[in-house]
Amino acid sequence: MAENGSLNGTGGQPHRTAPAQNGKAYGFVDHTFDVVVVGAGGAGLRATLGCAQAGLKTACVTKVFPTRSHTVAAQGGVAASLGNMGKDDWRWHMYDTVKGSDWLGDQDAIEYLVRNAPQAVYELEHFGVPFSRTEDGKIYQRPFGGMTTEFGEGPPAQRTCAAADRTGHAILHTLYGQSLRHATEFFIEYFAIDLIMDEEGVCRGVVALCLDDGSIHRFRAKKTILATGGYGRAYFSATSAHTCTGDGGGMVLRAGLPLQDMEFVQFHPTGIYGAGCLITEGARGEGGYLTNSEGERFMERYAPSAKDLASRDVVSRSMTMEIREGRGVGKTKDHIFLHLDHLDPAVLHERLPGISESARIFAGVDVTKEPIPVLPTVHYNMGGIPTNFHGEVLTKKDGDPDAVVPGLMAVGEAGCVSVHGANRLGSNSLIDLVVFGRAAALRCAETVKAGEDQPELPSGAGDNALGRLDRFRYADGATPTAELRDRMQRTMQSNCAVFRTGEVLEEGHHKIHEVWKASDDIRVTDRSLIWNTDLIESLEYDNLIAQAVVTMDSARNRTESRGAHAREDFPDRDDANWMKHTLAFCDTVDKTITLEDRPVHSYTLSNQIDYIKPKKRVY
Ligand SMILES: Cc1cc2nc3c(=O)[nH]c(=O)nc-3n(C[C@H](O)[C@H](O)[C@H](O)COP(=O)(O)OP(=O)(O)OC[C@H]3O[C@@H](n4cnc5c(N)ncnc54)[C@H](O)[C@@H]3O)c2cc1C
Repeated sequence: MAENGSLNGTGGQPHRTAPAQNGKAYGFVDHTFDVVVVGAGGAGLRATLGCAQAGLKTACVTKVFPTRSHTVAAQGGVAASLGNMGKDDWRWHMYDTVKGSDWLGDQDAIEYLVRNAPQAVYELEHFGVPFSRTEDGKIYQRPFGGMTTEFGEGPPAQRTCAAADRTGHAILHTLYGQSLRHATEFFIEYFAIDLIMDEEGVCRGVVALCLDDGSIHRFRAKKTILATGGYGRAYFSATSAHTCTGDGGGMVLRAGLPLQDMEFVQFHPTGIYGAGCLITEGARGEGGYLTNSEGERFMERYAPSAKDLASRDVVSRSMTMEIREGRGVGKTKDHIFLHLDHLDPAVLHERLPGISESARIFAGVDVTKEPIPVLPTVHYNMGGIPTNFHGEVLTKKDGDPDAVVPGLMAVGEAGCVSVHGANRLGSNSLIDLVVFGRAAALRCAETVKAGEDQPELPSGAGDNALGRLDRFRYADGATPTAELRDRMQRTMQSNCAVFRTGEVLEEGHHKIHEVWKASDDIRVTDRSLIWNTDLIESLEYDNLIAQAVVTMDSARNRTESRGAHAREDFPDRDDANWMKHTLAFCDTVDKTITLEDRPVHSYTLSNQIDYIKPKKRVY
């Protein structure tokens, strides 16, 4: 079983450090591992499992119990060109992903993703994921937005492998079970505070707080893999769990490293109106459609061929246009209807049981009889920690835009590899988790010798994390964390949403920087170290606000429209000036942002597919 907080790492003797702020001293519990993975969602568990399989001594540190990670909530499915329900080809999957990304994705990474996808799904099947089945026993696959055949010329592809509408649940539980078969050490309900970076800029590990006894642990490792998920909770209404606070991104910014493409925030078209919970795109994949107040299937006007299965940014914008033009439904005409009531109740029961339940609980709707009230809701962060397709973290250094940061890796939604570019296609995240989780583990196996000696940590290693902890633990300003968080979330929701203009972003820039500055006045009332949710939420807020500011400023800077970033004042994509990744550095002490850029990889990995040249993106 998982060992919670075991001291099995070498050097398990606690030793005292120099007194931190306020004269309080903390003792570190020291551990040494070959690899430490932070995060136990789909990406973290797949990386953990792979490292353990390779014989590396691996720790997995997670703030929530592994099977409570947000991956558990993924509904619709995982994309791979298995061709179980019609002809398919990884090249078509590649074309769709590049087009979906609005040509901001790195094509070498995309080729790696789609070519390894089928194998990754079979691996999940063999691990025990209970996929839904076709009549002849193959893995069931449903259509999803933006997934087509024949390089966009053919009919929609049925590419999304599903376990009813609980695919993430099935995958996460299976991966956790598999991880337990190996000698992985889990540190469950441990909150990672900060990375340990040495003077040469090498990542040497991470410091974490054990939430239930207040002990502080210093993990020394050859590789630290961040798999901490997205930061959807920077917004007021999000489909993601309250735990999705981008802690890995916060750590990376504090280490002086950049985040990439943070302006690209995906709004899912069908969050339940009011509650924000997700109704999977699989609902439209199974034949569901959207209507406005006139009962019109308006997507036929915006995306004549793909209609309700156009990609997410397109559908979210179309819904917003309908509402703006007065054709929203409901008393205040501020949302849209999603119809499933024409579908066979047996199909709903078999393929979409979870969302039928969510609609009943959160919207009071019987999906067999009435439409579901829906609204575009923040769902996914295309941006994150820049990496190559091995999962190694990149920074821009001495003119090299792809300089590897030694010792540090990132996978999953926390990372930006970048396969999703400016817009992610539905079901391409779950496959990203397992393909790149595995890739990162393979890289560790290649570059780390099991049990290899590690240099001593530099003196004072971890003091940055203690300083940060104390800053919040003893914060005695006047503004409660909840108030700051609310201001941040509302600013992001109103000033950095589906449609953006220079004016609205300029206002957002001032407002969000004000919130950031006001954060110096934060007040934490509980000074204890045991299950101190006030303290943890403040540390999470601190991670969120830095990323909110970066998101707003990156959006303000990009004067074009591409994928999820839709500027009304710059309605066209501008490849001449903007086919490049944004890199945002953040000085978290002075509270300033510096924006740079990095070229998009316009080459593929092999000669089995050519670079897919940019063209206009229509569905
Ligand atoms: C409702 C919903 C439905 C979705 N449906 C689909 C779908 O059908 N198909 C698809 O492809 N994608 C889907 N997505 C997207 C996809 O599920 C996510 O992008 C993906 O699950 C993220 O996985 P992850 O492993 O990167 O992170 P997560 O699953 O979010 O896990 C993050 C992990 O990091 C840990 N962690 C974070 N911070 C710290 C810290 N400070 N210290 C220690 N541990 C920390 C957490 O404990 C957790 O274990 C959906 C997303 C949502 C919100």
